[in-house]
Amino acid sequence: MPHVVTQSCCSDAACVFTCPVNCIHPTPDEPDFATAEMLYIDPEACVDCGACVSACPVDAIKPHTKLAEGELDFLAINAGFYAAPRERPLLAPVLPTLRVRERPQALRVAIVGSGPAAMYAADELLTVPGAEVGVFERLPVPYGLARMGVAPDHRRTRQVSRQFDAIRAEEGLSLYLDVEVGTHVTHEELLARYHAVIYAVGASADRRLDVPGVELPGAASATEFVAWYNGHPDFADRTFDLSHRRAVVIGNGNVALDVARILTVDPEVLAGTDISPAALEVLRGSAVEEVVVVGRRGPERSAFTLPELVGLRSTPGVDVVVPAEDVRSGSGAKLDLLRDLPAEGACGRRVRLRYLLSPVRVLGSDHVEGVEFERNEPDGDGVRPTGRMETLETGLLLTSIGYRGRPVRDLPFDEASGTVPNEGGRVVDPGTGRAVPGTFVTGWIKRGPTGFIGTNKSCALETVRALVDDYNAGRLADPVRDTADLPGLTGRRRHGLTA
Ligand SMILES: Cc1cc2nc3c(=O)[nH]c(=O)nc-3n(C[C@H](O)[C@H](O)[C@H](O)COP(=O)(O)OP(=O)(O)OC[C@H]3O[C@@H](n4cnc5c(N)ncnc54)[C@H](O)[C@@H]3O)c2cc1C
Ligand code: SF4
Ligand code: SF4
Repeated sequence: MPHVVTQSCCSDAACVFTCPVNCIHPTPDEPDFATAEMLYIDPEACVDCGACVSACPVDAIKPHTKLAEGELDFLAINAGFYAAPRERPLLAPVLPTLRVRERPQALRVAIVGSGPAAMYAADELLTVPGAEVGVFERLPVPYGLARMGVAPDHRRTRQVSRQFDAIRAEEGLSLYLDVEVGTHVTHEELLARYHAVIYAVGASADRRLDVPGVELPGAASATEFVAWYNGHPDFADRTFDLSHRRAVVIGNGNVALDVARILTVDPEVLAGTDISPAALEVLRGSAVEEVVVVGRRGPERSAFTLPELVGLRSTPGVDVVVPAEDVRSGSGAKLDLLRDLPAEGACGRRVRLRYLLSPVRVLGSDHVEGVEFERNEPDGDGVRPTGRMETLETGLLLTSIGYRGRPVRDLPFDEASGTVPNEGGRVVDPGTGRAVPGTFVTGWIKRGPTGFIGTNKSCALETVRALVDDYNAGRLADPVRDTADLPGLTGRRRHGLTA
């Protein structure tokens, strides 16, 4: 009777460190941790002690006897990870504790942003005796994409906010909401008051689809749609035309599946979740019955994770369908599941997965009326255009082809990767090759938009270790001012006063 990890796993690896028999993998020190879609329990080795259940912040682990019907696939998914023999030590890795040299001024750190990377960094810093951490968030609510990105019906994943609430309540942490660093307080002003500044500002820009017509009303990015239904204050006035029967989403990652599910699920399933009440009202009047999710490559290259597909498939009242010819060739667990899907649905509302189609242009004169695609065929690791065209009629086009970081004021920026150049979290000036004193990054702005909420934990730990090394080595200048004036200073600037 093994325990099983299910789809809400956000990969923070908290369970790994509690397991007495080291049967949850990959562990953060294993090479495949960074690319894993979730963590997996070895059913042969699990001794059913239950320790991992209470360690998990999102209730992702269940004894197999308590799996809901839609979660039964996770038995095979967990076991499948151990199908090939895996060498591993008897005991799980142990997290080394931070060693801090005593200095006259206790460690003081400013963190910009309050998303997962920021909160994990704060948690680690506050293990240092006497440490003070100031967290600066530009929005009136904290936790970044854990609140403004994760879909409202992913209740268990959103539970991670409870863990962040506990961190927020830790002694030594001050949270400054509605304060934008660069606008209401500068980098220099923070460095005068803190030993170091960690930027955890995420990657909030979209990768733009570059085809004619994409600027027409009726076309938008999935980022805007997600922010709108999650009540992001910058997107409260956005409108989306849901008066057409079909919507098209270009890109087939997890965000694309979230958007497709929100557009097709019965809105009453969303009532009582954290969805924006205004968005819920609009969805109640929606005419959308079908969302076509389109990928440029073949099904084995689907960007969504297997757990997300399993979750989508068990959405009540929504069929997930795929044309048989799109999933004919190839192999792998994702393809096995895709081949199980019907070609047509019976529920009335459906998500249709399509493959090997590249958008060529958006059709319409004053509003989106359709999208023209060119059919591709597989070509080695990539695809080759065939010259055969296909049109999908639609009134709503959402593009979901990835995120990228925005330049951060006062910091170097690498346009190619959309990240701040850094070595293990220390910001590095590419001109001199030297570390920028007292300046660090973590999360998506450090490594790019990859991984899950919990992936930011090991990322933040690496940054905090680099910062503490610099503090111990005397490379961080002691602050010359205290932080008492910050609420007044930032408050005045928020109200347009310059002093
Ligand atoms: C739509 C979407 C859905 C997702 N769903 C899931 C999911 O279900 N499960 C999962 O595990 N992962 C999910 N992820 C991934 C997860 O959200 C990210 O891994 C994680 O949020 C990245 O953390 P971060 O702290 O780097 O950035 P963010 O979460 O983006 O946080 C950055 C914060 O910095 C603030 N900020 C930016 N600039 C400034 C400034 N100048 N001053 C002050 N504050 C500033 C922003 O307002 C924001 O709050 C999802 C991602 C997206 C985009
Ligand atoms: S139930 Fe116990 S043995 Fe099984 S995975 Fe969880 S912690 Fe490990
Ligand atoms: S969310 Fe964290 S604790 Fe829960 S199963 Fe995933 S890695 Fe383990």
